[in-house]
Amino acid sequence: MPPKLTPPVQTIQGVRLGGQTDPESTWDITLEYPSNSPKGVISSIKPNDNTNDTASSPPLALPSLVHPHIHLDKAYIHNTPTYSALLPKTGTFQEALSSTTEAKAQFRKPDLIKRGEWLLAESVAAGVTAMRAFVEVDHTVQHTCLEAGLALKEKWKDACEIQLVCFAQDPIFSTDFGEQNRSLVEDAIRQYSPGQVGVLGTTPYVEASIEAAKRNIEWAVELAMETGRHLDFHLDYNLSPPEEQPEPLVWHVLSILREKRWKSRSTNKRVMLGHCTRLSLFKREGWTRLAKEIHDNDLPVSFVGLPTSDLYMAAAPSPSDGAIKINPRGTVPIPGLINKYALDAVLGVNNVGNAFTPWGSADPLSLACLGVGIYQAGTVADAELLYGCVSTRARAAIGLSEPRTPWSDPGVRLRCGDCADIILLYDVDDTGCFGQSNSESKSEGESEGQSEARSRRSVAEVVWDPPSKATRTIVCRGRVKKGALLTGSDWGFRFAE
Ligand SMILES: [Zn+2]
Repeated sequence: MPPKLTPPVQTIQGVRLGGQTDPESTWDITLEYPSNSPKGVISSIKPNDNTNDTASSPPLALPSLVHPHIHLDKAYIHNTPTYSALLPKTGTFQEALSSTTEAKAQFRKPDLIKRGEWLLAESVAAGVTAMRAFVEVDHTVQHTCLEAGLALKEKWKDACEIQLVCFAQDPIFSTDFGEQNRSLVEDAIRQYSPGQVGVLGTTPYVEASIEAAKRNIEWAVELAMETGRHLDFHLDYNLSPPEEQPEPLVWHVLSILREKRWKSRSTNKRVMLGHCTRLSLFKREGWTRLAKEIHDNDLPVSFVGLPTSDLYMAAAPSPSDGAIKINPRGTVPIPGLINKYALDAVLGVNNVGNAFTPWGSADPLSLACLGVGIYQAGTVADAELLYGCVSTRARAAIGLSEPRTPWSDPGVRLRCGDCADIILLYDVDDTGCFGQSNSESKSEGESEGQSEARSRRSVAEVVWDPPSKATRTIVCRGRVKKGALLTGSDWGFRFAE
């Protein structure tokens, strides 16, 4: 069930803000609901007027979180007894493809809704208020996953904006079912409006030949342009040296976009490239060429790194001598793409609870945290950028908002005109060691400071060690998600009359 929400909030008083020079300063945020933005916008952010007795430890207010790439229909297969025979036996990519196809043959709408709601509940509780959600369309599932996705999109619309991807995980230009798969995708794209299904997605690397993969790309670009859709490719998901033939498919994607004149200035529809692990082996010339082709041709291309899946699956081949070792991994270096080449790049959870990614959670903050380790991104500025990659930058990359300016703005500060989707992080002692009873039993001579719970004062501290979901309060479209901490009109919220 979607969460219960309060009436619309008018002001949120006495909060700290991410990205402030004085992290201890407190602010009042006013929300408005004009007729052209009924979902609410931030209309003012002013220094706290102290008229209300706000929480003793002011919460940290940040832009809400976003999944730029998550599979709604494949979530939590491992947590469903129907599929217990399909738990991984070898853990290989081939096994994941075949066991998931087997699971898909058993997908029914009630089961899709149940697992989808698990994913939505986990995501919204973590602070996610918008997502690009993939649902597969092919001869096995036909339109069942898509119909379940549409039902979930409608049911959860007050808590989370679900941007659906009509997704061809299977081949559409090769194998016995290619033609049938392709016509099912075409039917879906033509049957539903861009408001219902906003994105077309395909997987060129599953095609049986490089020619079929290229046709997959050309067909998808044409169909997306013709029908006004964003486009999303799972691309170059291997670790072959980029100079080896066939060359990375990213070059073909860019050349087709250029040929078809898909430009940032002529459309607000965007193209996302996911995985792209092979690019992690690029040398400087490869990166320079990539950035130049995208910038010179004004291509609205973003990259989404999916490191939880890549760490698990995108490994170099095992050593031939059978030695036990951790094979080198590859994942696209997201902060470097942004900082060095001014490319648009974000981070996505991709899969939870299935054979493609059996580990990890739906919490984008865990992903930002993982990024610190993977990219050796240890500075405060790095942490803020990683937060932006699962928040405002992710929202812009999937086309739900304008990108922030200047480009170097990591995107952790709430701003006037932003949508009314906010996450508030409270200092709550979840260790059970710093409650009131401890201070009551304080013995004489014990210093005051010894009983203070550790608090997270900055965005960097939140990314380095994400707080539990129970300490997060989520504002969706200006309305506060009930449950967890919110007990009434406390915590500095004032509601509209
Ligand atoms: Zn994916």
